[in-house]
Amino acid sequence: ATPTSIMVGTGKSAETGILFKGGEHLERTHQLDAIILDKTGTITKGKPEVTDFTGDEETLQLLASAEKGSEHPLAEAIVAYAAERNINILDTEHFEAIPGHGIQATIGGNEVLVGNRTLMAKNDVKTDGKERELTAYETDGKTAMLIAVNGEYRGSVAAADTLKETAKEAIQQLKDQGLEVIMLTGDNERTAQAIANQAGIDEVIAQVLPEEKAAKVKEVQSQGKKVAMVGDGVNDAPALATADIGMAIGTGTEVAIEAADVTILGGELLLIPKAINLSKATIKNIR
Ligand code: ADP
Ligand code: MG
Repeated sequence: ATPTSIMVGTGKSAETGILFKGGEHLERTHQLDAIILDKTGTITKGKPEVTDFTGDEETLQLLASAEKGSEHPLAEAIVAYAAERNINILDTEHFEAIPGHGIQATIGGNEVLVGNRTLMAKNDVKTDGKERELTAYETDGKTAMLIAVNGEYRGSVAAADTLKETAKEAIQQLKDQGLEVIMLTGDNERTAQAIANQAGIDEVIAQVLPEEKAAKVKEVQSQGKKVAMVGDGVNDAPALATADIGMAIGTGTEVAIEAADVTILGGELLLIPKAINLSKATIKNIR
């Protein structure tokens, strides 16, 4: 391998917005067999909006007040929804994020829980009869969340995130390059499947806890495959470091960018198949 051609390759990549941390990553990118993409903020824009809310005004107030403490994009969507309805935010005595499941907060002596089914089940909240409603949201690709106050079910909220404009085209190009394309998400199986269908992805690994993402990458590697991981979140950092090539979304968190081998400027997914082509071209020049 000539150092000059690699330098030319990394330079050309950088010009198009693909920032390799070193020439060795560019050299390895052409060998990929599979690519795992995070859903929220990677395939989707990562800016969900509330589409549905069931519950009374007090529930909405407790919901938004609890979510005020969270940095999750779903929380931002809920707080914005309440603000549009002129809901006053109450002070929170205690706040706790439950990674992969939701949040718990104490507000005016009330125990407020917001999150997925698992969170409700773990706290013995009865949600009988809600399954049909939740399923309907999820079939539409929305993320459904349940709200409980003092252990009792009080309502539900659904949020929708949209695909990045070029997601479908980028995924098609990756498939045409012969890569196995997999979507990885902490979100519900049905929601994940709906988004995957929109994006043209056939393989989905859903309901993965943040700490399990790296193990999922290892699982695919153990099949003898060279694996790229693409992600934007703090949650994705261990998986980005584990992958043969970690690709960070430039609009994502600093932690993800640090853990990755490559940064995709602006989060433009079309740059991923482009990176693979540039790697192939570089290797050809070397040989
Ligand atoms: P993602 O892969 O979409 O980033 P996360 O692991 O962050 O998923 O979250 C998984 C699930 O946990 C969400 O789909 C949601 O149901 C629930 N959840 C996470 N954070 C919150 C929150 N702040 N409020 C309500 N629900 C949440
Ligand atoms: Mg994400």
